[in-house]
Amino acid sequence: MLMRASALILSQLLAVAAGAETIVVKADRYLDVVAGRHVSPAVVVVEGGRIAAVNPAVLPDGARVVELPGHTLLPGLMDAHVHLNYELAEGWETEPVRFTTGDFALRGVPNARQTLLAGFTTVRDVGTGYGFADVALMHAIDRGWVPGPRVIPAGHALSTTGGHCDITGFAPGIEPPHYLSGVADGVDAVLKAVRYQVKHGAKVIKICATAGVLSFEGPVGAQQYSDAELRAAAEETHRHGLRIAAHAHGTEGIIAASRAGIDSIEHNSIMTEEAARVLKQNGTFVVPNLYLIEAIDVSTLPPALAAKQTFLIPRVSESFRRSLAHGLKVAFGTDAGVFPHGLNAKEFTARVHYGDTPLHAIRSATLVTAELFGTPDRGRIEPGLLADLIAVAGDPLTDIRLLEDVRFVMKGGVIYKQR
Ligand SMILES: [Zn+2]
Repeated sequence: MLMRASALILSQLLAVAAGAETIVVKADRYLDVVAGRHVSPAVVVVEGGRIAAVNPAVLPDGARVVELPGHTLLPGLMDAHVHLNYELAEGWETEPVRFTTGDFALRGVPNARQTLLAGFTTVRDVGTGYGFADVALMHAIDRGWVPGPRVIPAGHALSTTGGHCDITGFAPGIEPPHYLSGVADGVDAVLKAVRYQVKHGAKVIKICATAGVLSFEGPVGAQQYSDAELRAAAEETHRHGLRIAAHAHGTEGIIAASRAGIDSIEHNSIMTEEAARVLKQNGTFVVPNLYLIEAIDVSTLPPALAAKQTFLIPRVSESFRRSLAHGLKVAFGTDAGVFPHGLNAKEFTARVHYGDTPLHAIRSATLVTAELFGTPDRGRIEPGLLADLIAVAGDPLTDIRLLEDVRFVMKGGVIYKQR
């Protein structure tokens, strides 16, 4: 294990040291996610961390050639909903009052590595970065201290007092609610909470619009933030040029968040026909988590939480099918952290199981999520874009499970995995 880790770091250092090195990646085909078809062969020239050319007539002199026979190249995958500093492990309920920011940040290190090696080159970390542990992790990755995906961190998720993203279950006086840690009631406090997260490095804002599963407050779908508070959060976030994601299970909260101008509805568990029409009209993205249905072992949860999850399970898949039927913009998000990091691609298999096509699922994790992130520099294999590439052995359009076994990962022109 140690040897493998140091080999990885060494190869990374070598790659970084190589810097200006030109790399030619050759595979049998690449998936043109825009056209929705394979292109054969695939010869991708990488220079200075970007894609310089695709299937050029002449190859550059002196380039290092990487041969991937039998493989399909795809753009690096994206996950809009992870919690790198979090794990649903023994004692998770009391971690917020036992762990330091350092504990949370360091826990994120192996999780970030696992996520990258699974083929996910950009992730959005939505709000368990206590003490800005997620921002620290982003910095460590960007500085080359540790391997990991490009991270879009939320800092602390915004929550009403006693709401889903507050820390509850403790005696009064322990972790008192404060806008600095995202707990904000009323428009003024919401504005301060957004500004404080942005000040300290948040690149997205997460707001908990409704009650949730893994928290001890009331009915799972109940709206927690008022319409006015949601609108204030959305407007303030957009003033900073950032996107805002709302955790929302229940119908009223989903509709309220969309009408408030929130960019994406996370979970989107109980979306009625009416709610789907509102989201379609407003162009709101949805980020469903289908693998989560089987990934959470309900029997291990406290009884009150198990009851919430059991109630939601059939509604989640029904809402997902409705998203497909209405042609909503379905971004790709997994809630990794609630299940082990690095298993993010199981969401592809789950999606196809619940009625999606492999191509639509892959577009979700590339094109659509890049649109949600506002990052047009990735999500496709085209000259000028970031050299974030992965490869699988075979054709993922005929076997979606191949994405669970990514053989090659490049981020910014640096090879992190080659098998
Ligand atoms: Zn989550």
